[in-house]
Amino acid sequence: MMSQSASSPLVYANPALRFQVYEAELKAAFKKVLASDRLILGAEVETFEAAFAHHLSVRYCAGVNSGTDALILALEACGLQKGDEVIAPALTAHGTLVAILRAGLTPVIVDVKCPTLCIDPVALESAITPKTKAVLPVHLHGYPAPMAEIQSICEAHNLLLIEDCAQAHGSNIGGKMVGSFGDVAAYSFYPTKNLGCLGDGGAVVTNSHSISEKLKALRWYGIETDEDIRKVGINSRLDELQAAILSELLPHLTDYNKRRADYARQYHEALKSFFEYLPPLVEGAVYHQFALRVPQRDLFKGRMLEKGIQLGHHYSFTMKNLTAFREFCREVPVATKAATELISLPIQPEILDMHFEFVVDSVRECLS
Ligand SMILES: *Cc1c(COP(=O)(O)O)cnc(C)c1O
Repeated sequence: MMSQSASSPLVYANPALRFQVYEAELKAAFKKVLASDRLILGAEVETFEAAFAHHLSVRYCAGVNSGTDALILALEACGLQKGDEVIAPALTAHGTLVAILRAGLTPVIVDVKCPTLCIDPVALESAITPKTKAVLPVHLHGYPAPMAEIQSICEAHNLLLIEDCAQAHGSNIGGKMVGSFGDVAAYSFYPTKNLGCLGDGGAVVTNSHSISEKLKALRWYGIETDEDIRKVGINSRLDELQAAILSELLPHLTDYNKRRADYARQYHEALKSFFEYLPPLVEGAVYHQFALRVPQRDLFKGRMLEKGIQLGHHYSFTMKNLTAFREFCREVPVATKAATELISLPIQPEILDMHFEFVVDSVRECLS
C-alpha cells in the first residue's frame, strides 16, 4: 500500500496525471497546430465544434474562452435584457452567478434538493415572478438536474432554459445528453473538468440557428456575417491549440466517465457501512466530484491531510455567503447545511488506480 508524505500530499484532483496518460495525443495536437498557418478560429476549432455537437446530438457549438464566458454569451445570445430575472441554484461554482450579473441580469438564487444537490424544482417554481425570463440549472458534480420537472415548469411559464453543464460532460438522462434539454447550454474545459484542456476553454451549444449565429458574432467582437457590428460582443474564442487537444480527448470521454462511475460504485461498496448517505449512484451521472457529507467535516479534513490526502470543497459556501450575491438569495436551508458538511474525495481514475485502498482505509480511520 502506498503511503504519502505530509510534505507532498495526494491532492484530490490532478489534471497533470491525466495529461501524462494522453501524452502521445497531446503531442499530435501540438504538431498539427504548429504546422498550421491559422491560430485563431481555424480548422481545429471547427473540427472540435462539429465533434462536440455530434457527441451531444445538438446542432450547433461555438468554442469560447471559458465556461464563464460560455454562460455570459449564452445569456446574451438568448436576447435577455437588463432587469430580467434568472433563477439559479445556491450551490454552484462562482462562475454561474458571475455570468448572470456580468450579462446585466438579476439572479434569483434558490435552494437545492437532496440527494444530488441540484436545483429544487419546487423552490424554483415558487421563485417565479413576472420578471422571470430564464432558468439556469447546474448539473452539479456530474448529476443531471431534474430536467423533466424543470422543462415542464419552463414550458408552463414560458421561460428560457439555459443549462450549466460545466461539471457534466457526457452526463445524460436515459441516453439524452445534458446540454440538449434547454434552449442553450454552457460547458467549461478547465483542466480538472471531465473534458479539460491545457488551460482555459469553453463552449456553448444550441439547436437554434439564430442563437448560434448570435454566439458566433458575440465571441468575435460582435462582428456579424455581413461584417457589421450591431450588438457589441467581446473577444472570447477557443484557440486552435486547445481545440486540437480537446479533439484528441473527446473520443476517450465516454470510457473515462465509465471509469469514474466504476470508482463511485467501489466507494459505495467500501464505505456504505460508514455513512448514512453517500453521493448517490445515478444512471447517466459522470461523477465530476464525489462529495461526502461529514458533520465534523473540518476535523475529518485535517485528519485526512495528516495522512497525506488533501481533500477538496465543492462547496464549503453557498452563494449566500458571497457578498456580491447575498441580496439575490432566497432562504436556502438545504444548501446551507450541505455547505457545512461537503468534502470531496478523489474520484479521478488516474489517482485511484494507484491509491484507492489507501484513500478508503484513510477515510475509515479518520472517521473513527
Ligand atoms: C467550472 C465551472 C464554471 C466556470 O467555468 P470556467 O471555465 O472556470 O470559467 C461555471 N459553472 C460551473 C458549475 C463550474 O463548475
